[in-house]
Order: sequence, then structure tokens, then C-alpha cells
Amino acid sequence: MVENAARGGIEKRPVVRLVGAGPGAADLITLRGARALQEADVVLYDDLANPELLELCGAGVEKIYVGKRAGAHSLPQGEINTLLVAKAREGKRVVRLKGGDPMVFGRTAEEIEALATAGFEFEIVPGVTAAAAAGAAAGIPLTQRGVTSATVFVAGHACADRNGAPTNWRALAALRATLCIYMGTRRFSEIACELRGGGLPETTPVAVVAGATLTSQSLRFGTLAEADALLGNLQGRPAMIIVGEVVRWSELAAAAQQGASAGMMGCEI
Ligand code: SAH
Repeated sequence: MVENAARGGIEKRPVVRLVGAGPGAADLITLRGARALQEADVVLYDDLANPELLELCGAGVEKIYVGKRAGAHSLPQGEINTLLVAKAREGKRVVRLKGGDPMVFGRTAEEIEALATAGFEFEIVPGVTAAAAAGAAAGIPLTQRGVTSATVFVAGHACADRNGAPTNWRALAALRATLCIYMGTRRFSEIACELRGGGLPETTPVAVVAGATLTSQSLRFGTLAEADALLGNLQGRPAMIIVGEVVRWSELAAAAQQGASAGMMGCEI
């Protein structure tokens, strides 16, 4: 058990809030997250957090960009942790604003560890994660009675797990779950090949939702066999890849939005 001084009332220190900005559209932040921004003295924010959200902050708030893009970190994680603690030590009300949900591929655990080690209380404000936003945008239920009762959030970039083992895509294929692949655009051809090796038919439907909930949002539909074509020309936009039979349910939503002439397979909406 860890005893926290502030919780015991011995010493009152400001709570650092780790806030989910939601997937893109500014109005998808939670009311609690918006309130945290209004009350903040300092905000440390990422690329994926919509910059419009900073307009919720009061005058004079210090806004620090600590964004990261794959392969081009503007601040290494260790420095973000140090900065977070330093700002909290100044007695400021600190908000760490992150795209989507802070606890999903957000490296929030490392920030929490740094804060806890330094003796600061923290609060986590959840956000709409990209998989949920992409499912909603494309009309894809991530679980569907009679189709699949499981959804996997999985990272598609090259990072291995803590034991150094690469993601076992063949084992994931065997689950027959919906796969929501974050950060997977660069390696999707390889991933699709592994999924097929694990027994998923090449006709398994795939959706790629880029910039979900933003005005730039685009939807592409195809199959595992069309992995290369599906991922072309995304120009570094954040994209969610959804693999699984549930993707077929988007046909209804697409037809409703685009008119009965909209085909499902191989089209971009
Ligand atoms: N914490 C975030 C995920 C960070 S990892 C969350 O909960 O959503 C970054 C990855 O999330 C991107 O590479 C992309 O795969 C996905 N992503 C983030 N925003 C997205 C969006 N608006 N549309 C589609 N995918 C998005």
C-alpha cells in the first residue's frame, strides 16, 4: 500500500490531471475534461489533442507542446515526466492533455509513476478512445451479438512487449475477435499476412478510418487481401484499422448515409 500525504490531509498539494482529449472533434472531450482545462494553470499537450481545446483554458495559462509523432519525438518521454513533476512542484494546477483516452497507448503509466514517486496526487479523466470513435464513424459495432463478443485493442507498430516478444498476430487471429489496430498503418501488410497465417480468411473485412471525427475523416473498406491498397496515401494521418466480421455491419450505415448506390468493398467514403 502506498500512503499519499495529500490524501491523508497532512499536506495539500495540487492534483495533476491526466485528461483524455477524445479522438479529434473538440466536442468529444468529457465535461470533466473541459472543466479541468478551465481550471488549469499549465497544460502539456500532444499532437493528437485537438488544439481548439486549448481555447477552453483561462487567460494566461501556460501551454506546453510535448507532442510526439512516430519516429520524431519532440520531447522524449523521460523529459515529459520530469517536466510534469517540475510544474506540479511549482504548485501549479497541471493538466496533461492526451489524444483519445489517456490509458490506451498513452504512456500514462510512466507519467503516473513519476508523479507518484515525487509524491503528487493525480486524477485520470477518461476520454473517447480512437477505436470507439472509428467504430462510431464507420457504423461498426466493436462487438455484435452472434458475431463476436470480444474486441482487442492492439498496437501495430514495431514495439515488442516487456519480454521482448513481438505481438503474436497468429494467436490474435485465432480469437476471432474484432481487432482494433492502433498505430498500424506502416506495418499492416505484414500484419495482414500474419493474420492470414493464423487462419483468418483473406476475405475477412477490414475498415480503415483515418482522422476519425475530424473534418478530414475518411473511411475505406476492403478485405485482408487488399491490405496494401487500403493503406495507401494516408500521408501520416492517424488511422484506425478494424479487422473482423463486424465490419460488415458498416454496410448498413454507409448505405444509409451515401444512398443505396454506395458499394461497400474497396471504396473510400
Ligand atoms: N490514447 C489514444 C491512442 C494513442 S496511439 C486513444 O485512446 O485513442 C495513436 C494512434 O491512435 C494513432 O496511430 C491511430 O492509430 C489512433 N488514432 C488516434 N486518433 C485517431 C483518429 N482521430 N482517427 C483514427 N485513429 C486515431
